[in-house]
Amino acid sequence: MMGRDRALMRCRECGFPRIVSFFIRWNDNGTISQLMRKDFRVVVLHFGFLDNLFSNIEAKLGISIEHIAFEAQRNASKATFQAFYDKLPGARVLTRPGFAKRLGVEGFNKVGKITGQCHSETVEYKPGRYGVARIRNPFNFELMAANVVGAFETLEGVPFKHKWEEESPDTYVIRVEPTGERAEIAERMDLAFMRILPGCLVHDRCPRCKVPRALSSHLKWMESDGIILDTRTGSRIIMLDGYMVRTVFREMVEELGDEVNELLVDAQREWTVDHVGQLGLAEGSAPLPDAELEKAYREYLKNMPLYGLGNPVQFEMADSSVKVKVENPYEVHIIAGTLQGLREALEKSRSAVEWEQESEGSVVYSVTPAPDSK
Ligand SMILES: [Zn+2]
Repeated sequence: MMGRDRALMRCRECGFPRIVSFFIRWNDNGTISQLMRKDFRVVVLHFGFLDNLFSNIEAKLGISIEHIAFEAQRNASKATFQAFYDKLPGARVLTRPGFAKRLGVEGFNKVGKITGQCHSETVEYKPGRYGVARIRNPFNFELMAANVVGAFETLEGVPFKHKWEEESPDTYVIRVEPTGERAEIAERMDLAFMRILPGCLVHDRCPRCKVPRALSSHLKWMESDGIILDTRTGSRIIMLDGYMVRTVFREMVEELGDEVNELLVDAQREWTVDHVGQLGLAEGSAPLPDAELEKAYREYLKNMPLYGLGNPVQFEMADSSVKVKVENPYEVHIIAGTLQGLREALEKSRSAVEWEQESEGSVVYSVTPAPDSK
């Protein structure tokens, strides 16, 4: 099986994988979307952020949120594969014969490599009965399993269940098969699509594949490992649907109250402080002079559209406070934590963050010195 692993074809101009630039669009409004479905957002997330987010929140709340995350990811996975099949004329008919289903399963393996979520290979597949896959380097094992289950449910049209075992460190064998019933929670975990505002961002794009150069210059696909690296920091990144994290938190707020959102802001704040440091934007221990400070803010904000996190359309800096208007924020609390962490890293002091939704899809954030800080 390993012998069949082929390297992804690269753009001759910028080196970006062609299949990624074919299926994924970097828009001019701070979003990234799938070719098959323009309203279906994609985000580029740092592995370290996601990995810590759920475990930190579980530790703080003292309960497991794995099942909520699983159901949200399963639905996001189904929406992805469904969009793919809906847009291919005759795909529904074609996926019935075993041969075409096998192609569908191979397509799933490819998605893992394209998105940096894992390296997967089919061990055994009996259409309509079961499938066995070996998965290396999953970005998160449970969420990866949810993706596999969602893909099979789309392919076969019935609910699936899964079980897995660890074969060796970071290598898992997962087996999926149809099941009669489905968890009650799954019914509530529908994805909420939001209105997307148009934008007029101008990316400096590769003339050949149209991917923004600011992104292709620092992302490296290591497809034989199922990993994408940010070469600036040496950290792993993944491309994920833009809905799973939001759906998980919506469900948690319903069960546990607003406190959950505060945890989300805080987890993102902590992560951003580290990230700004890794990028070398927060050198030294003294605050930067105003001109350099503004440059550092703008430099970091420029990354947001590349990662599909939103479009920062206005930035103001005065009296140790910053005001940022973001259109199409990926998730309002995550952006709040990002801006708070950014100010903390650059100005070396704690802050408070508030935000107001101006209109649907447009949020104004204010990050001010914390009441108890000098
Ligand atoms: Zn290119």
